[in-house]
Amino acid sequence: MAHRLRQGPFMTETFALPSAGDSPWTCPFCPLACDHLGVAVDTTSQTLTLQGGACVRASAALAQFNERPSAATPSIDGQPCSLDSALQAAEGLLRASRQPLFGGLGTDVAGARALYPLACATGAICEPLGGAALMHGLRALQDRGQFTATLSEVRTRADVIVFIGGVPADVAPLIGLRCGIGDAQVPQRRVVVLGPSSGCQALLEAWAGQGGVQVEAVPLDGDLFDTVSQLAVLVSGRSLPAAPPALQQLAATLRGARYGVLVGSPPRLPANGALVVEAVHQIVGSLNRSTRAAALWIGGGNGVATANQVFAWLSGLPLRSRLGPRGLEHEPLLFDAGRLLADGAVDALLWVSSFDATAAPPANALPMVVLGPPGMASRCLRSDGPTVFIPVTTPGIGSDGHLFRTDGTVLMPLNRVFSDHLPTVAEVAGRLMAAISQAERTTA
Ligand code: SF4
Repeated sequence: MAHRLRQGPFMTETFALPSAGDSPWTCPFCPLACDHLGVAVDTTSQTLTLQGGACVRASAALAQFNERPSAATPSIDGQPCSLDSALQAAEGLLRASRQPLFGGLGTDVAGARALYPLACATGAICEPLGGAALMHGLRALQDRGQFTATLSEVRTRADVIVFIGGVPADVAPLIGLRCGIGDAQVPQRRVVVLGPSSGCQALLEAWAGQGGVQVEAVPLDGDLFDTVSQLAVLVSGRSLPAAPPALQQLAATLRGARYGVLVGSPPRLPANGALVVEAVHQIVGSLNRSTRAAALWIGGGNGVATANQVFAWLSGLPLRSRLGPRGLEHEPLLFDAGRLLADGAVDALLWVSSFDATAAPPANALPMVVLGPPGMASRCLRSDGPTVFIPVTTPGIGSDGHLFRTDGTVLMPLNRVFSDHLPTVAEVAGRLMAAISQAERTTA
């Protein structure tokens, strides 16, 4: 069995037959965008496997691919067709719509840049997969601002790390590693899990076994809203005698830290999670009067953070926005995709998910255009509405691209492992835009 290897810049192990000219590999499968791992290609079976470390999510995602150029073709209502036919049908569906919804938005920078003018041309409302979680952070940011840290700052400087509401290992499996827990750059590090810890006992024990790392769990007092509110009061220096001693001690620990970082994950927050985000920002603000502190939010995977950044550059507004008859509109509550679909407020859906074949569109009977990996085609079969499926490449696997990391300031290059010969979201959206423009010129 022979291997070719695409590897990250920090790997120390070597594997058989690294191919000349290979570029570093960045994992596109969660908000951390790790660049310290590699991918080996088994040239016999052409399967892809993770190298240089372990991550269940990355391994499961890589197992969906093989190195063969894809033979997948577009389809209309489940019947294979040419790309030209699929684009023509998709253009017809979008032009016939009075209010389309662009959902999912799982793409890279180039894909989002190409979707934006298409959304403007069709008046589409744009709402990503997990839009409610994105709004938790955005609404808190819009209301009061924030201090946030990068992953590198946390890894190299944070002496106290508090996980708010538990450890988000389900959202970002290597969160401990990327926060530098056990990394000798910070010799003494205190890690506190505020909230449920029963599901991550093995992880906490592993962290506690590393030199210089002290781990503790602080249970909630009431719910997460109650607990972070009390912590905010205590950190501000006000007296709260009824607060549990463990919470009082946590406030003292944060006040005594050189650089405390509060790590949370919007996708794990309950409804109205923006209130938790605001309370965390209040804690950080209080701490920054006397020491140094920041928040780190783990979310925006599947290209969601990237789409939000790009739409904000291009329009000045985040997602859950549209260019409609009244100009640019941002509606953080009304433009919830679930609400729009349930209310019959949209009449066509363009669904984009180029990283995750399992992130299929929500059940609906609307005319639908889906841009997804080939493995998503079977998940889009239905009998209650016209469907155009166009298989697209996955950036970081079958094509190059760029993706924003969870900390928002770092744009990671995605280098392909092989060429799958599928179109990118940018190419498909660009051709749709050209077809719609041409059709409008013809009918004008
Ligand atoms: S933690 Fe996330 S980015 Fe890192 S290897 Fe796992 S899935 Fe990929």
